[in-house]
Amino acid sequence: MILRVLGHSFHYECENLCRVFFPNEKIVTRRDREGADARTVDTILAAAPDGISLTVTAELDGAAAQRSDCLPADAEKDACELRMAQLLFDVMCTLTGYVPPWGVLTGVRPSKLMLRLAGAQGEDAAFRYFTQDLLVSPEKARLALTVAKAEDAIVALSQPNSFSLYVSIPFCPSRCSYCSFVSHSIGNANARKLLIPYLEKLALELQAIGRLHRELGLRLESVYFGGGTPGVLEAPQLDRLLTEIEQSFDCTTLRETTVEIGRPDTVTPEKLHVLRLHNVGRISINPQTYHQATLDRIGRQHTVAEALKAYRLAAGCGFDCINTDLIAGLPGETPEMFRQSLDTAISLGGGNITIHALALKRSSALNADGGGVADGNAAKEMLAYAAETLPAAGYAPYYMYRQSKCVGNLENVGWTRPGQACLYNVFMMEECHTVLAAGAGGVTKLCEYRGTNVERIYNYKYPYEYISGFEQLLDRKNGIKQFYETYRI
Ligand code: SF4
Repeated sequence: MILRVLGHSFHYECENLCRVFFPNEKIVTRRDREGADARTVDTILAAAPDGISLTVTAELDGAAAQRSDCLPADAEKDACELRMAQLLFDVMCTLTGYVPPWGVLTGVRPSKLMLRLAGAQGEDAAFRYFTQDLLVSPEKARLALTVAKAEDAIVALSQPNSFSLYVSIPFCPSRCSYCSFVSHSIGNANARKLLIPYLEKLALELQAIGRLHRELGLRLESVYFGGGTPGVLEAPQLDRLLTEIEQSFDCTTLRETTVEIGRPDTVTPEKLHVLRLHNVGRISINPQTYHQATLDRIGRQHTVAEALKAYRLAAGCGFDCINTDLIAGLPGETPEMFRQSLDTAISLGGGNITIHALALKRSSALNADGGGVADGNAAKEMLAYAAETLPAAGYAPYYMYRQSKCVGNLENVGWTRPGQACLYNVFMMEECHTVLAAGAGGVTKLCEYRGTNVERIYNYKYPYEYISGFEQLLDRKNGIKQFYETYRI
C-alpha cells in the first residue's frame, strides 16, 4: 500500500490506521505524489481561503472514496490530526466494509487512557470522547471503563516501595505457528543443551536481584513465571527455582505467585505437587482452542483430550485460580468454533479466562504461509460472544491490552471470577510499580511511584547470549540502584 502524506506530519497516526485495516500489508509512506499502487491512500492538509482543508482520498483494489473537511485557520495541530484520522477511518470503513470497534484509537492501553480521562473530566465526558471523537463503539468504551475501574482498585494496593518479580523461561515443547516470541523449542537438541546452563545463571540472577531488593528495602508483591512455557521444566528444576526465590527474597509481603505452565502437554502430577508445595496459588494452562484440527494446524503436539485431562488434574490440586487462554481468529476457525471452545473453557469452571485476539507478527510462521486466519468481522463476532457469555457465567473483565497487527484491531482481555484477578497482570500493565525481571528476554521496568518516569533495563533476548554475557547483564542491573537514588522511595 502507498500512503501519501502531503502537507502535514501525521504520518505515524495515518500509518497505524491503515495497518488497522490491512494488518499484514507493507505500507510505503511517501511525502510526494509519486508512486501508486492497487492500494493508494492520499492524506492532504492545505491552507484554504476559509481555514485549513483536510482531504483523504483512497483507491483500494479498484474502488475509490474521498472525504474532506475544513477546520478554522487557528485549529490546533492535535485537532487537525484527530480530524484527519476520522476522515481516513471513514474512507477505509467505506471501502473495506469493516468498522473497527476501537475507532481511530490505536494505543495499546485503552483502559489507562479511559482512567486518566475519567479522573480528569468525569466518566460521562470520557465516554463521550471515546465514542464521539475517537469513534470507539459504545460497547468497547463501556468495556474500557469497566476495566479501568477494576484496574484502579488493584493499582491502589501498590505501595511506594512495592515491586513484582518476573521470571522468564524462554523454552517450549515445540513452536506454535503464530508465535513471535523468542522461545526455543526443546525438541531441538542444541536448544535443549542450553537449558541446564540457563537455569544455573537464572538462579544466580535471582540471588543478585534478591540482594538488591533487601539493600533497597523493596517490598515483594507478586511473582510471575512466564515464557515460553515454564511447564517444560521438570519438577526438580521448578523446585530449585522456587526454593531460590524463597531463600533470596523476603516473601512475607508476597500476595500471589503465578506460574504460567503454558502447554497442557507439560502438565504432570509431580510438577503440580511441587508448585503446591511452594504455595504457588495460580497457574495458567493454555490450549488456545479446543479444536483438534486447529491444534494440529498451529503446531501443538497435544490433543483436546489431553488438554482437558491436564486441566482436570490441576483442578484437583487445590490451586486458588486456574487461568485458561483462548485465541480468537486462529486459522480455519469460525465464530461457531470459537463459541464451542469458550463454552468448554467456561464449563471447566476456572477462575480466569483470557481471550486474545490473534496478532500475527512478521516473525511468525503463520504470517509467512499466509494464514487462513479469521477476518475482522469474524473475530469481532467471536469477541462479542465472549463479552456476552462471560459476564453471564460470572466473569468480569479486569485487565486489557492491545497489540499491533491484531486481527480486526481488537483487544486482549483478562476475565475473572470475583476476587480471583491476577494482580501481576495489572501491576505490570499499569506500570504502578517496578517489575524486576530475571532470565533471557526479561525487561526490568523501573517505575516512579505515582509518577510518570519509567526506565527499562533489557536482559539479553536469547538464552545463549544470556549465558555468555551474564556478567555484563549483572552490571546492567546497577541501573536499579541508580534509579532508586534518583527517585527516592
Ligand atoms: S507456547 Fe507460547 S511461547 Fe511457546 S511457541 Fe507457543 S506461542 Fe510461542
